Amino acid sequence: MSPKKPFHPIRPNSAGRPQSSFGQFEASELFCSRCQRAVPVRKRLLLILPEGEKYEYLCAFCSNSLGTKMEFEEREVQILI
Ligand SMILES: [Zn+2]
Repeated sequence: MSPKKPFHPIRPNSAGRPQSSFGQFEASELFCSRCQRAVPVRKRLLLILPEGEKYEYLCAFCSNSLGTKMEFEEREVQILI
């Protein structure tokens, strides 16, 4: 059971620019089993962990989950006392 989030369909931009307001776009494409083609992916932040961030890759057309990836990031950990 995953929480349903409101989904806003992507409108094709005639200028070919990704809409930054919709989230981050990765340059790479992945194969979507639902669309039966290589599709641009949408990157969604799943979890923020102390050692990095976990992202989920979604099909830009049908929001099918194409996989997840951990990104390890060096950053300062702020401890609030
Ligand atoms: Zn798809």
